[in-house]
Amino acid sequence: MARYTGPVCRLCRRERTKLFLKGERCYSLKCPVSEAVTDRHSRAYPPGEHGRDRMRQGSEYLAQLREKQKARRIYGILEKQFRNMYEEANRQPGITGENLLRNLELRLDNVVFRAGWGASRRQARQFVRHGHVQVNGKRVTIPSYRVRKGDKVVLREATRGNFLVRRNMDTLERQTPAWLETGDAGFSVAILNPPLREHIDEPLQEQLIVELYSK
Ligand code: SF4
Repeated sequence: MARYTGPVCRLCRRERTKLFLKGERCYSLKCPVSEAVTDRHSRAYPPGEHGRDRMRQGSEYLAQLREKQKARRIYGILEKQFRNMYEEANRQPGITGENLLRNLELRLDNVVFRAGWGASRRQARQFVRHGHVQVNGKRVTIPSYRVRKGDKVVLREATRGNFLVRRNMDTLERQTPAWLETGDAGFSVAILNPPLREHIDEPLQEQLIVELYSK
């Protein structure tokens, strides 16, 4: 299954905002776009030789494009799959942008991230790929698997002592969103309902993405 394997901080620099793709490092002074880093050491400008030249204000199209890229990068999805997700959201009843965000949130790797087991969606995805996660008692290794209302996602017994998982659960202090209910001392989550827009705290303007694709 294809995924982006290049340097991830570069993606945040391109969007000129923190996308929190690396877990712990994102909250430290090592983050190159951290506001706490002094101007001299900050790299909060787009990557590449002409990165600083790209700081100027752009067109409406550019704003839409950047918003779409930001969403793709936050959820770790390549262009073709993201486009397919948009087409599907457009076919569903309701508001297309909200449908799109809801479908992104219902991906299994995102649920593992929201549960606090993975420090980043990238790490959560790896937990899924390596077979550490079960849905309704069955091992599922597909990160894009879409959970449904009533599903129970569980971290396998053998993985619960994993150093990374324990450290993430002890240190991240991530709030479980209202559409998930934790159980088994934090090692399982049940899907109460698909998330509403107000439950999704990512800084995205989904309307711009819809405008871009509906041209
Ligand atoms: Fe890198 Fe995380 Fe900072 Fe993004 S937020 S630039 S991934 S350290």
